[in-house]
Amino acid sequence: MPQDEENILLILSSPSGAGKTTLSKKIQQKYYSFKISVSHTTRSPRDNEVDGVDYYFVNKEKFQELIEKKSFYEYAKIFENFYGTSKKEVNSIIKTNDILFDIDWQGTKQLTSFKNLRLVKIFLTTYDKEELKKRLIKRNQNSSEEVETRLKSFDKDILHWNDYDYVLINKNLEVCFKQIEKIIITEKTNLTSSLI
Ligand code: 5GP
Repeated sequence: MPQDEENILLILSSPSGAGKTTLSKKIQQKYYSFKISVSHTTRSPRDNEVDGVDYYFVNKEKFQELIEKKSFYEYAKIFENFYGTSKKEVNSIIKTNDILFDIDWQGTKQLTSFKNLRLVKIFLTTYDKEELKKRLIKRNQNSSEEVETRLKSFDKDILHWNDYDYVLINKNLEVCFKQIEKIIITEKTNLTSSLI
């Protein structure tokens, strides 16, 4: 992967409903150098989602074809759907920008195997499971069955916190955002000083 030496690849992983999407948007709004890596998925679009902006929505056959062509840096099956990060997408962004990844622990593990990448891995979680349940219900994007599936997956996701460089508890969105900003500044500064 051709990476500009000064750019970082920031991974934000979390159980569904922990505030990751809102925080990703806030990072992009304040730090223009960050571009989000738009993933491919076989899941159906939600009402407010746009193809090519939120995801590239593809069917299972197309996804399988992309796997066979080795078009992904990583991919995973999550809640019965496939999600993957295309090499084409990442390779074009990294030359000029920092990249923000909204991917799960399986994808993070796969990206970690590319030793030449400057990955910064953040695991975000809520204070407890009850809080997560409230958020999932409030955002009203999932059926009650899906909410239960996502809550069950929390128990598994949380086991992987140790694979990350930072673990943040999102009790308050603004506080959490400030913590992420500190991480970005620290990581970018460390990088610059190591290049001098
Ligand atoms: P959602 O269906 O709620 O948009 O996403 C479900 C999960 O898929 C989230 O945890 C999200 O981080 C993860 N995800 C989204 N895109 C990718 C990807 O390209 N690769 C992997 N491994 N996970 C992804």
